[in-house]
Amino acid sequence: MANEHAPLTVALEQLDLAAKKLRLDDGIHKILSQPKRSIMVSIDIRMDDCTVGVFKGIRVQHWDVKGPFKGGIRYYPNITVEEVTALAMLMTWKCAVADIPYGGAKGGVCCDTKKMSLGELERLTRRYVSLIADYLGPHRDIPAPDMYTDAQTMAWIMDTYSQLKGYSIPESVTGKPVEIGGSEGRTEATGRGVVHCIKKAAEVTGLRLKNATVAIQGFGNVGYHAAQAIHDIGCRVVAVSDSTGGIYCAEGLDPARVLAHKEKTGSVQNFKGCTNITNEELLEAECDILIPAALGNQIKRKNANKIKARMIAEAANGPTTPEADRILFEKGTCLIPDILANSGGVTVSYFEWVQNLTREHWSLEEVNRKLESKMTQAFDDVYKLSQEEESDMRTAALMLGVGRVANAIRTRGLWP
Ligand code: GLU
Repeated sequence: MANEHAPLTVALEQLDLAAKKLRLDDGIHKILSQPKRSIMVSIDIRMDDCTVGVFKGIRVQHWDVKGPFKGGIRYYPNITVEEVTALAMLMTWKCAVADIPYGGAKGGVCCDTKKMSLGELERLTRRYVSLIADYLGPHRDIPAPDMYTDAQTMAWIMDTYSQLKGYSIPESVTGKPVEIGGSEGRTEATGRGVVHCIKKAAEVTGLRLKNATVAIQGFGNVGYHAAQAIHDIGCRVVAVSDSTGGIYCAEGLDPARVLAHKEKTGSVQNFKGCTNITNEELLEAECDILIPAALGNQIKRKNANKIKARMIAEAANGPTTPEADRILFEKGTCLIPDILANSGGVTVSYFEWVQNLTREHWSLEEVNRKLESKMTQAFDDVYKLSQEEESDMRTAALMLGVGRVANAIRTRGLWP
């Protein structure tokens, strides 16, 4: 029996829902249910102890009707092609909601980065890129960071791709270090974008942000920068967590100091003045705003009713199951869905690509100003549709994303 929480089952269910609401043509619905291309490769590398390591690599390209495929690459144990397909599909809708000229893709390599050396990770990345290079390129498919990959990984990708082509092609990948063509503000972009959405949602729901309490699951790149950005606008971050567990402090935490502690000890836990909590307890903690910024499938039927937050901003991809969505909507929780809430990352990726193609470099102020304007527009578009449809914001975001992609397919037509 299919697992109701399996990411691909959920993604297809979401597509079906949008298709039904949009009265989408059957042919286009069928087209969008499948990725255009799925690539599976075997990545063989020399490990530090001289043995041979064999890793499974995946790149799924869902749809590219509005521009090149775009999406991150995650390194994670046990990642499957079904999961990567679901994430690629989400990227197609996300780029359409953000109104940037890209299609959706996602990559994954089955590996445990915590058990690998920097040298092994570099060899793995370079080999993976060499195996899929024919399907990449600045006008074909542009990778970016995702879980357990970062700017350094992107630098290796750019270098490998450029070496294979014989000249420097910074526009072949986004999320690079600034010194080789990365954009100012890209690292913080997803977290900042989440907070722009929260500010807009607070306006429409009447939630007072001054001193509002916030719990954040995940303290990686996205979770940390969301914590910092929400702390900067005067909210109180009362709980954070990472894969080892979480901490709670009713008076509020300083994210920068928690990060320093995590860098020193390897965990956010045992931070002075805080109570240690589990990841499950974090989700159910007393707070106004909950930001899941870690794995998928965290808010489900079992715990949805126990969530106390009035607002949830999905910084992670797919943290809420459809059953939990229904429970939260009935409870009146304001949920800002992933394809809107975390679209700041790919939006600044788009800015990076534009800067690379035009050989320009924009200031941090310019990037942040443009990001805020894009996020505000995307939020307004989704919110307006949710009001017209009397639906939750996830349904509205899906309708907007799927609708825009479907229109583009209809306009281009099928060939031959
Ligand atoms: N991995 C990020 C996401 O899921 C960013 C993708 C990109 O910048 O292409 O949205």
